[in-house]
Amino acid sequence: MKDEVLIDIKDVKKHFPLSKKWFAEKKYVKAVDGVSFSIKKGETFGLVGESGCGKSTTGRLINGLIKADSGEINFKGKNLANISEKDWKKYRKPMQMVFQDPYASLSPRMKVKDILLEPLKIHYPKMPNDEKKKLITELMDKCGISEFHLEKYPHEFSGGQRQRIGIARSLILRPELIIADEPVSALDVSIQSQILNLMKDLQEEFGLTYLFISHDLSVVEHISDRVGVMYLGNLVEIARKRQIFEDPKHPYTQALLSSIPQPDPKKKRETIVLTGEIPSAANPPSGCKFHTRCPAAMEICRKIVPELKQLGREQYTACHLY
Ligand code: SF4
Repeated sequence: MKDEVLIDIKDVKKHFPLSKKWFAEKKYVKAVDGVSFSIKKGETFGLVGESGCGKSTTGRLINGLIKADSGEINFKGKNLANISEKDWKKYRKPMQMVFQDPYASLSPRMKVKDILLEPLKIHYPKMPNDEKKKLITELMDKCGISEFHLEKYPHEFSGGQRQRIGIARSLILRPELIIADEPVSALDVSIQSQILNLMKDLQEEFGLTYLFISHDLSVVEHISDRVGVMYLGNLVEIARKRQIFEDPKHPYTQALLSSIPQPDPKKKRETIVLTGEIPSAANPPSGCKFHTRCPAAMEICRKIVPELKQLGREQYTACHLY
């Protein structure tokens, strides 16, 4: 159904303790600090930000790899934030992950056919072997890997081919949501676009919904319908892709965009150089967390946390300038 919300997360927080020693002062890294957004069925939501902004933690929270401290993670209307590990098993099938480094996530001792067989054996133990084989060969074909490769091991493939295998494995159980965490960051630029195009084709064929996590705005531009920009554990802007790339509102989004090389001189943006390092998520600045680097910072920014405000039909920004 068009506009049906598949995943809706509300005010999700995850703070990691800095020290496990009981006598140490309790300090926390506020990796995800009250994040809310939703993704519609069939949509690609790009989540961007610099390293350490909390985007990968957000993906892992949605997939249940780590548990949220608070907030709601609603998948098809069911809040998964507090369900037991046993109940989580039901949601492993419809939600799968694709990782940055497929080599690390594919067992080096298993042949490709066994890597793909494993989830089928667990979830469909009664499925006849020839049906399993048919499913695997069809899927590998759609992912651009020939049948004879099934007898090979992951180390015998290039990085791009390994990511194709990682994508095939994520699809073998016919999931609805794919959380792709930097899926092309480790690949050459020419291979990146092949993998992104493959992901688009598979999305259309299988009606997939993507949460696409990346530090690279040009990659996100290629694949996303809407984009969320994260900074130090918070979303600072959410908008449709065109709004983000043509009329970004938040000074942080504007700075990120200005650093993308622009081949068309007419579209060249004024370069905004951000001064200073990203502050520590264990000791974030008061008020707007971006105020220590923001070229437009005002007095109010040091004291008051800006709320995510709706500026247009689908554009939200957390900034006191609006
Ligand atoms: Fe900059 Fe202030 Fe807006 Fe934060 S709230 S982005 S410091 S202008």
